[in-house]
Amino acid sequence: MRLTRKLALLSLLGSLVPLACQAASDEQKEFAFGVVERNAAPMAKIGDSIYYFAELGMQEFESTKLMKDVLEAGGFTVQLGAAGMPTNLWARWGNGHPAIAIVSEIDALPEGSQTPMEFARKPLVPGAPGHMEGHNTHGGLAAAAAFAVKETMMRYGIPGSVIVSLGPAEEQLISRPYIVRAGYFKDVDAIIYLHIGDQMATGYGLANYASISANFTFHGKTAHAAVDPWDAKDALDANQLMDVGVAYLRQQLHPTYRIHRVVTNGGIQPNVIPDLAQTWWWVRDANMPDAVQIFEKLVNVAKGAALMTGTSQEYQIIAAGWPQLGMKAIAEAVQGNIDKVGMPRWSDDEQRFARDFQKSAGRPEVGLKTAVTPLGGRPQGYASNDNGDVSWTVPAGLLAFPSIVPGITIHEWHAAITPTSTIAHKGMVAGAKVLAASVLDLLTRPDILQRARSEFDAQLKQTPYFAVLPADAKPPLDLNKATMDRYRPEMRKFYLGEQPRLF
Ligand SMILES: [Zn+2]
Repeated sequence: MRLTRKLALLSLLGSLVPLACQAASDEQKEFAFGVVERNAAPMAKIGDSIYYFAELGMQEFESTKLMKDVLEAGGFTVQLGAAGMPTNLWARWGNGHPAIAIVSEIDALPEGSQTPMEFARKPLVPGAPGHMEGHNTHGGLAAAAAFAVKETMMRYGIPGSVIVSLGPAEEQLISRPYIVRAGYFKDVDAIIYLHIGDQMATGYGLANYASISANFTFHGKTAHAAVDPWDAKDALDANQLMDVGVAYLRQQLHPTYRIHRVVTNGGIQPNVIPDLAQTWWWVRDANMPDAVQIFEKLVNVAKGAALMTGTSQEYQIIAAGWPQLGMKAIAEAVQGNIDKVGMPRWSDDEQRFARDFQKSAGRPEVGLKTAVTPLGGRPQGYASNDNGDVSWTVPAGLLAFPSIVPGITIHEWHAAITPTSTIAHKGMVAGAKVLAASVLDLLTRPDILQRARSEFDAQLKQTPYFAVLPADAKPPLDLNKATMDRYRPEMRKFYLGEQPRLF
């Protein structure tokens, strides 16, 4: 039977016996909450282990090995290396539909190494990467929630599949377009995307920004800068002229745009005219078609700069991600579970610690949030996440869980102080309950899936999805390898060396 017809039939049955279903659903959720609670310690241990691995994107070898071990021991079938990326993890339990996927990532950030719970800057390994966004918590939470769903499905004979997808290199917005392109989400009915935050929240509509990341390279001709500069074609000049051109372009762009860049090759020394120069550009806007328009203007500016300098230019798209798109039907279900589970009960010590931390970081001393965020309270953010492409492929829900101290901004070392704290651990327990209950809703409530699907279809009719990643693009597997090779021997000394197991 086609899924849509099956959904329609199940929906009809569902409307005939709503009260009985509701009771069953509450009982199932309570059962799942029990599984999460009894796994609070291993869940924390998984998150803490990944914290100390602190692996950069595409190099998440220890982190994904641990996740594979945990999920396999928990009954899941785990594939590592899908879509041509060795640290891409795809785990599944169950068969057929509905197939609901939990989607997240577990990579760290460069130079984020920090001693947990120390307010002063004190790297565990100077210069080494660290979890200054708390992606380590995603692994523990995703595993525990998926395991709780699986246990509940077994106990109550719920049909379908639960999937965990951990994509590599989220911090450089790399992997998801490749996973989408490889067709991994074709057979998935809905996803819930999971991310750490300072609040318990969901949302719908466009959640963040589209982004295109690309290297623009100019090729010229070298010469002695004093002896025969007239024989040269200066690639750095072209680089600079492109920068000036883009600066003038800014006036003609919609106010929603973002453009930023770093020069990645500006030559060797002043008396050698550079025959090679490169800038790494990022273009963002509120939706992908607008970001593509800006990017096309950038290409024209690069062509102009090459023409002016007699050089040649080329560009290579490194990554391109659509904004995350959340479905209201799924957000309402997630919100129902957020309201049911509520915020963690913070101890006085945790609140005091949070205020001290905020004070030390020069932030308002407001402590930890004690109330969940109401639905609709999540305006579109300016950051990007390569998961966006997944949300234009399959109806998506979004969940942020409260494991960060409010006011502490991610992508800086302060955020690496608490991802192994009891604050993080309690946020993970609450988040895992909400996530498990929401996946159960999607597995057992065809009406939600059906509404999400029609919402999704309408959205895509308005803005059809297209791949921005070139068809011949290959994932950059060596990304961050040199950095990890350099620091891993020292970082290894901090590995917890444990084998957490869910039960
Ligand atoms: Zn993140």
